[in-house]
Amino acid sequence: MTENKKKMICLAGLTLLTAAAILGFERKQVKRYTETLSVNVTTQPASAVPKGAATSQPVVYLTFDDGPSCLTQQYLDILKKHDIPATFFLIGQQVEEMPEVVERELKEGHEVGVHTYTHESCDIYQSCEAYYEDVHKVKDLLEEKFRYQPKLWRFPWGSANCYIRSYKEEIVERLHEEKMEFADWNVSAEDSVGHPGVESILANVKKDAFRVQDPVVLMHDSGSNRATLDSLEAVITMFEEKGYRFQTLSQRKTCCHFGE
Ligand SMILES: [Zn+2]
Repeated sequence: MTENKKKMICLAGLTLLTAAAILGFERKQVKRYTETLSVNVTTQPASAVPKGAATSQPVVYLTFDDGPSCLTQQYLDILKKHDIPATFFLIGQQVEEMPEVVERELKEGHEVGVHTYTHESCDIYQSCEAYYEDVHKVKDLLEEKFRYQPKLWRFPWGSANCYIRSYKEEIVERLHEEKMEFADWNVSAEDSVGHPGVESILANVKKDAFRVQDPVVLMHDSGSNRATLDSLEAVITMFEEKGYRFQTLSQRKTCCHFGE
């Protein structure tokens, strides 16, 4: 055998060995990948989306303040029809009058948060202590009546209102210690000012909802919010048609604060 032939055989052998090694390595990789996949599949149901996980499907958070009221059951009927959850920020006085409505909200998978006991700005906002007591009165009520621990509260008129300027930091810190977080909104239906109608509510929601990430929509379910009730179906459909899914607010990455 010539020296050249020996070299060629040697080279061919080496190439074969390398190819076999690569093939083996790839097989191992495929096996490992498959194993990882099967672990993921068996430990995590397909429907579960971990909190904060990247997903292409947009999410919207419908929130309702100032209930429960004589209209709330009809809101719940619409939400049930569409099989979607929402978040209700409650007025304590009304919870005492209509506990069965709150019972239904919880039973049907909605989240409830503290709004205020009386919603009277002169009383609740006169000092940090007064506001703390107002929030706590509702929190205690929910815990005693429904064994439910609210995670969220919403300041009447939002966290940028001028009443709380001098003690906002203090009250936020104090309630943080009790594992509570405040929640604002980034889309407003403007349904509690002036004379809202179905058209104006829809236009207000549409105006901001699709230019913010993870929209948190402020609406109201007080007894005077007939127009909100009448527009709810159309608001929901608007998001459904754009492929949004609906979640309760404490499932959001952040609870939504003005200016963030
Ligand atoms: Zn309110």
